[in-house]
Order: sequence, then structure tokens, then C-alpha cells
Amino acid sequence: MLNQISNENLPVIRCIGIGKSYSEAAEAVQNIDLTVNHGEILVLLGPSGCGKTTLLRLIAGFEVPTNGTLSVGGQLVSMPGTFVKPENRKVGMVFQDYALFPHLNVEKNIKFGLDKTNKSDERVKKILDLVGLNDLLERMPNELSGGEQQRTALARALVPNPTVMLFDEPLSNLDATLRIKIRAEIKEILKQAQVTTIFVTHDKEEALFLADRIAVMNDGKIEQIDSPEQIYNKPSTKFVAEFMDPATFIDIRIEDPHTLITELGTIGVTDPVDSTNGNLQLLLRGNNIILSADNGPSTVDSVEFRGSHYSYTIKLASGKLIVYISRENVLEISQSVSVSIDRTHPLHIYKNGKYESTTMIAPCSKT
Ligand code: ADP
Ligand code: MG
Repeated sequence: MLNQISNENLPVIRCIGIGKSYSEAAEAVQNIDLTVNHGEILVLLGPSGCGKTTLLRLIAGFEVPTNGTLSVGGQLVSMPGTFVKPENRKVGMVFQDYALFPHLNVEKNIKFGLDKTNKSDERVKKILDLVGLNDLLERMPNELSGGEQQRTALARALVPNPTVMLFDEPLSNLDATLRIKIRAEIKEILKQAQVTTIFVTHDKEEALFLADRIAVMNDGKIEQIDSPEQIYNKPSTKFVAEFMDPATFIDIRIEDPHTLITELGTIGVTDPVDSTNGNLQLLLRGNNIILSADNGPSTVDSVEFRGSHYSYTIKLASGKLIVYISRENVLEISQSVSVSIDRTHPLHIYKNGKYESTTMIAPCSKT
């Protein structure tokens, strides 16, 4: 008999201390605590090999955890001594390669695994309306575009009315334009159906667009779980900052708690900075800095044309590289320039690689 959790307010997915080792040498996921609430889209974001697929397969029941407890929809599905099979977890999964049956048409693919009751027919009709496949029911998978195949895979996963949907990089085989279109469709469908979802991707833009919350993974661990805005604007570690966008960390020395000495000048700040027990650094992004073409101590290292803007890499006197964005092609390679910090942006201070505090530049500060 399975342990049933009765409290309705519990999250739909709950991982407590989940770990998985494929071998003694390495842990693919380590001590993961994660909750996903009803109707929420949680995006697992991280570089290749960080453990995203492993965590998804543990939740689906395709892998047995080495440690920890897992519940789905209030049912304990995995803990020492208990393991519920994937087919009994009410979980739908969509993969990168769609995994459609090549010898079955769209309708048969979608209905595969359903019993033939009127109730199922109603459910199928509802899902077909939702994903807009009504005109393609007779087509075989090889007669469908990538986007249509992915919508078929999505419909097939939704038809059994899963409590939870799991997506493993489902858009990476589509071209850039289609990716943007289909991700919008998927988001709308999931929100309409109010399905609790974990969506895995290595694409930060996809994550920012889709997620109610993002969990950034690195090396088998979750570095930060937060709203897309918090993840981008206030990354809790250097890893998250650098993964989300080009980021430069410059060293700070403290003259007094309101005065920071950096290679870009001495800055007066509104909030005191605690300098005890740590190496302090300042996070700078392309929109945090101002550039003057005035024979200063920094040089223009390289430039890339990105369509809507130019992305310059500037080498500071210390040798650190920093990105500067401009809509105009205004700088030449090897040109000497000065970099200063834009006073209108909040400054994020990091201690020993972790987020510490935020402050503004003081109105009277010269920088
Ligand atoms: P991601 O999906 O983020 O790319 P994975 O979860 O696939 O990462 O892999 C995480 C780590 O676990 C990697 O080092 C990978 O080589 C290893 N790994 C994944 N699956 C297996 C397996 N079946 N056997 C052994 N090692 C595996
Ligand atoms: Mg993967």
C-alpha cells in the first residue's frame, strides 16, 4: 500500500534530497530539493551534462534514485523501499526526437495506449482542438513538419490527462523561427490545460520566455531557483550570472563601507558593503558601463555584428574582458577607450563568488 499524502496544499512535484549516481566516481544529480506547484511551469536550465535529463527521468520513474524522496500529485513515488513504475505516475513526457510511431498516422499515434471508451474520445477531441491538429489526423509522421510532429507528441502526452508534464529539450530539433512559434503555442496550451510542468532546456531565452520559475543547474546541483527576472537581474552565483549573459566580475577593495576602490575608479555607494571574510567583486554587464573614446587605459579587443546591435569586447587595464553593446558601429579594434560604471544601475556585490548585496552609486560620487 502506498503512502498517500492528504494535504491538498502540497506541491504537485516534490523532490527531497534526490541524488543519482550511475557509478561510484560521479554523482549525476546531487541532493536536489525542488518543488513545483499546481499549474506552474518550472524550467530546468543548464549546460549539457549538468544532470537535467537525469533529474527528469528520476521524476518520470525511468531511473531509481540513489538517495532521497520523490512525490508526484501527492503520492510518494520513490523513497527507500517504495518505487512506483512510470506508467502508474500520471506523468506525460515529450522528448527532443518526438518519438512518434512511424507506422501510425497522427490519430493513431495520439490514441495509442488509450482504452476505447467514449470518455477517451471526448478527451481526444478536446486535446486535438487545443493543439490544432484536426486537419492532419490521417497524415503519417513522415508527412509532417517538425512543428506538427512536436504538436502530435504533445497531444499524445496530454491525452491520458497527466498530473504532470515533463519536456526534455523538445524544441532543439526545430529551426529558430519555428522554435519561437512552437514555444509560444506550448506555453498557451499548458497554461490553458493548467498542467504542472517541468521543461528542460539549455537555451536561456527559451527559459526566460516559458518559465514561471527557473531552476539553474550546474554539475548535478541546483544553483538558484527563482523568477526569470530574479535569475537574470540578481543571479545568486557567478555561474548563474555568466550562464545568463556575458558578465564580468571586477575586484573591489574597501576603503570604508561606503567607498569601493575598483580598477574603474573609486565609487561612493548608498548602502554599506560588508568586507569581512571574503573576496569582494562587482558584477558588470554590457548595460552597466559607459564608454568614452578618449585614449583611456582600456582597448577595444573585438567586435561582433549581431543584427540589431554591435557587441564589443573591451579589454580593461587589468586584462579582464567586458562586453559593451552599441547600436552604432562606433569603435575600431585596438582603439584606446575609458570605461566607467553607469550610475543609474544598481550595483550587485559578490563575496567569494556568491551574491552578497545590492547598492546604488551615491549621488555625490564622482564615478
Ligand atoms: P544533461 O541532460 O543536463 O545534458 P544528463 O542528465 O544526461 O545531463 O547527464 C548528467 C551526467 O550523467 C553526465 O555526466 C552523463 O555522462 C552522466 N550519465 C547520464 N546518463 C548516464 C547513464 N545511463 N550511465 C552513466 N552515466 C550517465
Ligand atoms: Mg539532456
